[in-house]
Amino acid sequence: MPEKILVVEDERNIASFVSMYLKNARYHVEIARDGTEALQKADATKPDLVVLDLMLPDIDGLEVCRQIRSNSDVPILMLTARDDDVDKIVGLEVGADDYLTKPFNPRELVARIKSILRRSTGAQRKPQEAAMEHGNLRIDAGRREVTVSGAQVQLAPKEFDLLWELLDHRGLVLTRDQLLERVWGYTFAGDTRTVDVHVRQLRRKLGDDCPVATVWGVGYKVADDAPVA
Ligand code: CA
Repeated sequence: MPEKILVVEDERNIASFVSMYLKNARYHVEIARDGTEALQKADATKPDLVVLDLMLPDIDGLEVCRQIRSNSDVPILMLTARDDDVDKIVGLEVGADDYLTKPFNPRELVARIKSILRRSTGAQRKPQEAAMEHGNLRIDAGRREVTVSGAQVQLAPKEFDLLWELLDHRGLVLTRDQLLERVWGYTFAGDTRTVDVHVRQLRRKLGDDCPVATVWGVGYKVADDAPVA
């Protein structure tokens, strides 16, 4: 069965252009013209991925992202017309997996969607019992659940994957490019700000229990030995 992509875009020419490329790549495409329709279709059609424009006529893309994220782990790729880092970063902070700035190359959009979907189905294939502990922190790949001293912490999908990757390589420094490739699936050097924003979110959510250390100018690592719980 073809994977289903929900494209949320009020500009008709962009929506049909994106839709054409996605159909050529053998995806099933649903289109929503505004935020209300997006929320409705995200719920009713259970898409495998959402392409979400930031600027919509009714509810803005960030709020749509936040609402979808409150009850679903579906991958979300944000489109932003403004080449403005603040918007992109806010998009990632509300739980988007990735973003593209308009005007974008449709081939790049398709490549990113493929990579996000490959990653998200890869994550589901992790063995049910796979879990790691570090100090007070426990991360469970089967349940996609993170707890600190037994209390559950809600992480966005990419925050979860990033934490998993770093814990899985504890004691080793992973560069931003390596993390982009392993977590986001880019095989070219992408925008490494994405990694920094996600690490910042992990620190905000996990507080003092966040094990991720910055290795200046290089990347990030999790120390080999967990602090005594
Ligand atoms: Ca728009």
